Amino acid sequence: MTTRKTAPAATAARTGRSALRDEARRRDDRDPLSAHAARFATGGVVHLNGNSLGPPRESLVHALDRVVSGQWAPRQVRGWFRDGWLELPRTVGDKLAALLGAGPGQVVVAGETTSTTLFNALVAACRLRDDRPVLLAEAESFPTDLYIADSVARLLGRRLVVEPRGGFDAFLAEHGRQVAAAIAAPVDFRTGERREIGPTTALCHAAGAVSVWDLSHAAGVLPTELDAHGVDLAIGCGYKYLGGGPGAPAFLYVRSGLQPEVDFPLSGWHGHARPFDMAPRFVPAGGVDRARTGTPPLLSIVALDHALEPLVQTGIRALHRRSRSLGEFFLTCLGEGRPDLLRRLASPRDPDRRGGHLALRVPDADGLERALADSGVLVDARPPDLVRFAFAPLYVTYEQVWRAVNEVHRALP
Ligand SMILES: *Cc1c(COP(=O)(O)O)cnc(C)c1O
Repeated sequence: MTTRKTAPAATAARTGRSALRDEARRRDDRDPLSAHAARFATGGVVHLNGNSLGPPRESLVHALDRVVSGQWAPRQVRGWFRDGWLELPRTVGDKLAALLGAGPGQVVVAGETTSTTLFNALVAACRLRDDRPVLLAEAESFPTDLYIADSVARLLGRRLVVEPRGGFDAFLAEHGRQVAAAIAAPVDFRTGERREIGPTTALCHAAGAVSVWDLSHAAGVLPTELDAHGVDLAIGCGYKYLGGGPGAPAFLYVRSGLQPEVDFPLSGWHGHARPFDMAPRFVPAGGVDRARTGTPPLLSIVALDHALEPLVQTGIRALHRRSRSLGEFFLTCLGEGRPDLLRRLASPRDPDRRGGHLALRVPDADGLERALADSGVLVDARPPDLVRFAFAPLYVTYEQVWRAVNEVHRALP
């Protein structure tokens, strides 16, 4: 619509917007979590990009330097044994477990990509149900999940069934006895729409299928309660809301009761019960350590560890509350004087049905991403017509949200 606003209406909209800026500042003043943002090295950029790589904490360079100058340089190879490097995949896993609703000893950061970790988990899940022909996935999955699931199905001679959002649970209810493993995500990577972990996991269990969850868009922003729901296996990225930085390694959760029987295809020496025996035959480690592969990328795990600190300290419920409130404030600002923009929302309007991000449907998504980037606001376009806005709880402030919406208003006249 290109109808010209009359001068008084434009003035009213401007007044409304500046009132919202004041409101943003009041909210930042009131919420102690807003103080975290100043401790991130943002370079003044507003980071609402939903796929990865929020800013580092200012103190990251010191954390890395403590390892490089304080451990690596003086002790070199001895660091593996004297500085806890060998255990780091597990110690960091245990910290992360607190954010996932998991008890200790069930999460490991082996040092792999999300894709490799998913491969490892899906093959292991199918191996737990050798007599079942189907691997079930969601049509809306992040592409790598579908590619990997397809490859696993071909490798193991199973049939990959890809069901759209609405058909997934129905398939489990009707044909669950054929399903070896089912892979789903609690947050749709495009629209942010949630899938409840509890009911889908319960359907898997009722049918005897292994439940596998990809938590990439949930970890660090949404309570997942893995133990309470009895989830079997879960994986996720280290570089989205967890903020582990470029190429941060993925994590893997294995329910403790399942650990003795789970047989991972990537059976590397770090997953061996006694890696330094250098024995010719693979004997898996007793616990979640059996999911480890080879020598881990230590500095990347240190960076992830550092990123987890304030998240764990804050706790997943407070992180979720804050992200949800930032998202709601975004919509309030978006609709101020521009109700047409609210009709572009491609995500559920109810914040209980969204994860940490929301998406707008726009005619030129790439163009909007570029225009916003030029004004210092990072978002990401998803083909064909979506732009995502993600609300990381600790480095995004209400005032930044206000500023971002101001730029959206400018870019979409
Ligand atoms: C981001 C994302 C990935 C990315 O996989 P990488 O191997 O880390 O590149 C995988 N799955 C989901 C659901 C994601 O959101």
